[in-house]
Amino acid sequence: MSYSNTRTALFFGLACSAIALTACQAPMSPSTLTHNTAKITKAKGEHKKAHWGYGEHGTVAPANWGSLQGNATCKTGKAQSPINITEATKSIMPLNFKKSYHAENFTVKNNGHTVVFNATNPASNKISVHGKTFELLQFHFHSPSEHMIMNQHYPLEIHFVHKSKDGQLAVVGVLYKSGANNTGLAKVADKLVKKGQDATLAGFDVNSIMPKDQKTLAYSGSLTTPPCSENVQWLLQKTPVTASKGELIKFINSYKGNNRPVQPINGRTVSLN
Ligand SMILES: [Zn+2]
Repeated sequence: MSYSNTRTALFFGLACSAIALTACQAPMSPSTLTHNTAKITKAKGEHKKAHWGYGEHGTVAPANWGSLQGNATCKTGKAQSPINITEATKSIMPLNFKKSYHAENFTVKNNGHTVVFNATNPASNKISVHGKTFELLQFHFHSPSEHMIMNQHYPLEIHFVHKSKDGQLAVVGVLYKSGANNTGLAKVADKLVKKGQDATLAGFDVNSIMPKDQKTLAYSGSLTTPPCSENVQWLLQKTPVTASKGELIKFINSYKGNNRPVQPINGRTVSLN
């Protein structure tokens, strides 16, 4: 094969200047979107749900997720997410990434770790990567961002979780920084319900909260929440989207610090497309 790769350094502006920095929730299927517990076996054969969480200390902290039954990949996996992206390889091999999004109705649920916007009709919103189709199941947020670019967090990252017919996941990640207001994000911010409350977001087009520039940082990673399953195609949008401080603060006030720390790259390459 006669193709060459060019190492391209990535330079990004600081994104988090005036916003307090503080947090993937990429579930496997609609039926498990709010399932954020792992069962551990008790001595008497009982099962107790062990909650996982964030923060630096305690058994529920990210560093200890791998010790919860069923979540060993969180500790033993070699292709974990999120990561800190400091360089990307520009390849002439095209990703052939195409989005086909339209206005859709979402049901909103707070699962105790984030607020999840579940698509009522996943087949109506699709992406294709290398000719393979993935349907949009849901989107949810982390504050601050889980991915880092050039060692910097952004105040907010939204994950758009897609699934193919054969069960593979593809997550589009979008970063947000303080700047001009964003009417689409304002609609999402107004639906950040508390746990136990439900809401709907009707006729919402996810295009309104995505960058127009489609430059994409692609790599193979994992869910960023237990069970940290791998073989997730990550499609991080390189260009951040602006939002007003007021809009960003609503997310930070909803969940502050629901971000898994960055994980070792272990020789993986990130491609810039
Ligand atoms: Zn997520």
